[in-house]
Amino acid sequence: MSFISKFLPKRKPVEIKNNIPKEKASIKKTFAVYCHAHHGTSGEKLCPKCTALLATVMTRMNRCRYGITKPICDRCEYVSECFGARQARDFLTIMNSNRGRMFLKHPIMSVKHKFLSMGVDYARYEQQKKIDDKVKAKEKAAKERSKEKKSKK
Ligand code: SF4
Ligand SMILES: [Zn+2]
Repeated sequence: MSFISKFLPKRKPVEIKNNIPKEKASIKKTFAVYCHAHHGTSGEKLCPKCTALLATVMTRMNRCRYGITKPICDRCEYVSECFGARQARDFLTIMNSNRGRMFLKHPIMSVKHKFLSMGVDYARYEQQKKIDDKVKAKEKAAKERSKEKKSKK
């Protein structure tokens, strides 16, 4: 540590938020809204199918390969691998077909979930852009090398 750095303000360590509890709460509410509307249930009770699916989702989230830095499950590229193809399809149906009702019943939670989705989409877009830029840079370098070779001949 240099002499000057002793007097500089200390940088705060980057805080990694654990969004899993909030995501779980949001998924539980979404399932409840969906099950009430489609399967005639009410209150805390869900039908057996939704209960089983929700239990699977909660268990998988506890063992998520990403840990607490996980993306939200309905935007995750491993959702089929993680939940199984049929359960992933049912899960995505519930999460996607329910947005209007969720917004009416739980507007704040719904908006927060939307922001999280946008965050995941943006991070994925940035990641893809970096990959594309690297590929383009490699292609450009290869073209320039072949041009140089031709001009030397
Ligand atoms: S679907 Fe993706 S984010 Fe969700 S628990 Fe599985 S691996 Fe983690
Ligand atoms: Zn149900």
